[in-house]
Amino acid sequence: MSDNATRRWPLPRMTRTAGPAAATVIVIAVLPGVLGDYYLGLGYTIGMNALLALGLILVTGFAGQFSLAQAAFYAIGAYGSALLTVKAGWPAAAALVVSALGAALVAYALGKPVFRLRGHFLAMGTLALTEIVYLLVNNLSFTGGSSGFGGIMPFSLGQVEFDDLRSQFWLVWSVVAATLWASLRIRRGREGRALRALRSHEAAAAACGIPISWTKTRVFAGSAFIGSIAGSLYAHQLLYVNPPPFDVMTSVDILAIAVLGGLRSPWGAIVGAVGFQVIRQAVDGVLPGLFGAGSVGAGEELVFGVILVLILVVRPDGIVGALSSLASRASAPRGTAPVRPAAGGRPAPAADARPGERVVLRARGLSKHFGGVRAVTDVDLTLHEREILAVIGPNGAGKSTLLNVLSGNLPPTTGRVELNGADVTGARADQVAARGLARTFQTPSLFAGLTVRENVLVGGYLSGRVGLIRSALPTIGAVREERRLAARADEILAELDLSHLAEHEAGHLSLGQQKMVEVARALALNPAVLLLDEPGAGLNRAEKLALAGILRGLRARGVSLLLIEHDMEFVMSLADRVHVLNFGRTLRVGTPAEVQADEDVIAAYLGTARRDVDGDEPVEATNARS
Ligand code: ADP
Ligand code: MG
Repeated sequence: MSDNATRRWPLPRMTRTAGPAAATVIVIAVLPGVLGDYYLGLGYTIGMNALLALGLILVTGFAGQFSLAQAAFYAIGAYGSALLTVKAGWPAAAALVVSALGAALVAYALGKPVFRLRGHFLAMGTLALTEIVYLLVNNLSFTGGSSGFGGIMPFSLGQVEFDDLRSQFWLVWSVVAATLWASLRIRRGREGRALRALRSHEAAAAACGIPISWTKTRVFAGSAFIGSIAGSLYAHQLLYVNPPPFDVMTSVDILAIAVLGGLRSPWGAIVGAVGFQVIRQAVDGVLPGLFGAGSVGAGEELVFGVILVLILVVRPDGIVGALSSLASRASAPRGTAPVRPAAGGRPAPAADARPGERVVLRARGLSKHFGGVRAVTDVDLTLHEREILAVIGPNGAGKSTLLNVLSGNLPPTTGRVELNGADVTGARADQVAARGLARTFQTPSLFAGLTVRENVLVGGYLSGRVGLIRSALPTIGAVREERRLAARADEILAELDLSHLAEHEAGHLSLGQQKMVEVARALALNPAVLLLDEPGAGLNRAEKLALAGILRGLRARGVSLLLIEHDMEFVMSLADRVHVLNFGRTLRVGTPAEVQADEDVIAAYLGTARRDVDGDEPVEATNARS
């Protein structure tokens, strides 16, 4: 039990199987039989809101992108189904599916350009979309304009008609249960991990091979698909559509529901929808007595506004987040991961692991300028197969920037980068990763909120293929792939002596542990080239020795390594060659012995006294530390 102490989501076993199953049975099989019409109607509304919020949680909760488009997709579903069944005579089910595909296509068309931009452009784009769709249905003649149109038949599947409240309640909650179940599966599958990873640290997610904007676009399309299904069901329930339910306030309400329940878990949609309705009923009951009948509409909005702000300030993970942390406090105290002494017995360095002749990574005339800051200027760099190349230089010399350009995390200002003979200049980080390059970051970049194992699993993203749809359905292939990825992750964790941390949340580890897990995550890419930005920072001496052993072992397996490091003893004992940067330019390239003896290097990098290099004092204690 103590090993699970720092799990972020403390109810996994229960919620994975028993929870959804029990909830489904109660809501679908029992409630329709026992509820009266009033509560059936209320339950129907809650189900509809839960469905819309489930769609929103995919994009806003999983991917961290605020969307105000749920009302637009709701409208597309409602009007799509209404038009296709009434005016074109389609069967309801076909109209529902085609409308949902149409909504997904609209999301794709909006998401593709918007997600290329950084920041919350989706919120603005989706606000505009909702306004546009509202204006269209309000003004076009074939949608009936502001008066809308009726004549819609109840939803039917073959001979089965959903023509009373009881069957409609059953239908909407069945769809909610299926969507909840699919969302929970997506959340813990390859695609959900990728989404949670990119929400936590986009650059690191890209370095794991995750195509950022494409992944966001797909989940946004999924969110539209669900929103549209809600709209279709709504049209077949009311048998009439007109514009008011599809204005932007609906999008805001759905956002409020998801925030109230908690954005991080699909359960938040259900809890939020129930909470929203309870609050609404309470407000509607209290306000007229206090301020008169006219106060209900505006009063409701005011109360929800205040509640939203309170939640965002006090409990950003909503009711579900509050409940789950209560539950985890009750079951096991949170604590930091136990620190284990680093294992000394690393695989011995293979004696024949000498660098080869082939160049695996080459930079020519590489520059990166940030406005007036010339971080990297005209650098030529080569990395051979099975080579350990150290990049050293004073703080601010441009080492990290160089690495970011090599890995595709930053585009170069000028120059060229070749990876295994292919030109990757200006390629995105995920494309570079797909060509066999992995990296770690100088500042901790593990995916917070994911366990150590999940972090390493994200590193295995490229060796899987299961996407959003197959994540949601437990096909044999999807289950097998997940097992294979998990086995590989566990193997890497064992190799790096990190198995005891597998279930710990990555954000709770010590700096040294985080650095090692980052190496593990990078190894999960099975890289041919591994770039490490100060992997030894935060490690104690024993841990550093272990790290050196691991890196030598990797070289013996044919991996080429480029590492930025400040600890000169570490560098000198490990590196085949050293590339010295100073003020963004190459100062010297040579063997450790050559570089160590070079007057310019000593002057630039080590400060002043030559004694520091030759003497007994630890060289890392000079002014070169960052
Ligand atoms: P090092 O890793 O060698 O310590 P960096 O590559 O981090 O050096 O930084 C090199 C120079 O580029 C520094 O002057 C730093 O302030 C600047 N720099 C790095 N990243 C950025 C950025 N994103 N925007 C502006 N300046 C930057
Ligand atoms: Mg740096």
